[in-house]
Amino acid sequence: MTEVNQTPMKNAIPAGMLKKFAVQTREDAFSHAIKARIIDYLTDFQLTYDEKEPDIVISVGGDGTLLQAFHHYIYRLKDTAFVGVHTGHLGFYADWTAEEIEKLVISIARNAFNIVEYPLLKVTVRYTNRAESVGYLALNECTVRGAEGLLVADVLIKGEKFESFRGDGLCFSTPTGSTAYNKGLAGAIIHPSLASIQLSEMASINNRVFRTIGSPLILPRHHRCQVKPVSDNEVLSLTIDHLSLVHENVKFIEFVVAEKKIRFARFRPLPFWRRVRDSFIGEGENS
Ligand code: NAP
Repeated sequence: MTEVNQTPMKNAIPAGMLKKFAVQTREDAFSHAIKARIIDYLTDFQLTYDEKEPDIVISVGGDGTLLQAFHHYIYRLKDTAFVGVHTGHLGFYADWTAEEIEKLVISIARNAFNIVEYPLLKVTVRYTNRAESVGYLALNECTVRGAEGLLVADVLIKGEKFESFRGDGLCFSTPTGSTAYNKGLAGAIIHPSLASIQLSEMASINNRVFRTIGSPLILPRHHRCQVKPVSDNEVLSLTIDHLSLVHENVKFIEFVVAEKKIRFARFRPLPFWRRVRDSFIGEGENS
């Protein structure tokens, strides 16, 4: 039987295409020492350290560091690829170890590689008191909460009311974010080749008066979902990955699979389900 290749969109890139690099680190001495070694090695290979227009960003720390790198370079997602080194535990975005640094820099300088593209979440906030909207991209998720207590809002899918939500909040995650906050909310783990967004509830109130679906929902690329607060002048607390924001006078917030994607440089195969197993199950006696 022929095996079907299910990896997300992949482009093969010949060796020598990565000329400029930057390194984003977690604020600890070990990660900084790894950064210094990467800069030494790659400049020896005639690559240029360029924090403004890097072809590749090497994130050294954990998944949180990669989230910061993504938001730092959000203005050049088309031109910059990411790779993650973890200096703590194995990460979903940070899959190279500190001991593998030499191997990684040789791969960056000398080897052909693949670019894999993963879906992002586009968030648009619209207001009751002005026409302009504000937009964000999330790599993991966006959460919405009432700033002064419960979130009371209608949830619309493709413009049609789906349910009235009352509870702590709602979490909209990307496939790669499905192993983060979403997993703590009993959401499903989604393979990143499925361009989709997942909506998970945070402690919804369910009784004879208020009723929500209760299950996480997975929406395809062509569906948009809106969260519409029931009262005017609503103040909502949002998180976009590691960033926390407060928005006043929210008319509604729209969630959709973004057209933009994040690009990862893959120098070796990295099966998603192996990463899930290694991160969450480990090598127990059933492995
Ligand atoms: P943090 O509170 O310092 O770290 C949150 C944890 O989530 C870290 O262990 C981080 O891994 C891990 N993580 C991040 N992205 C992940 C992913 N895609 N898959 C699996 N684990 C992931 O916060 P932070 O470092 O700034 O990261 C912000 C993220 O924290 C948010 O995007 C959200 O997903 C997550 N979060 C989760 C919960 C929860 O599960 N109850 C609550 C709040 C926030 P590293 O240690 O490798 O950095």
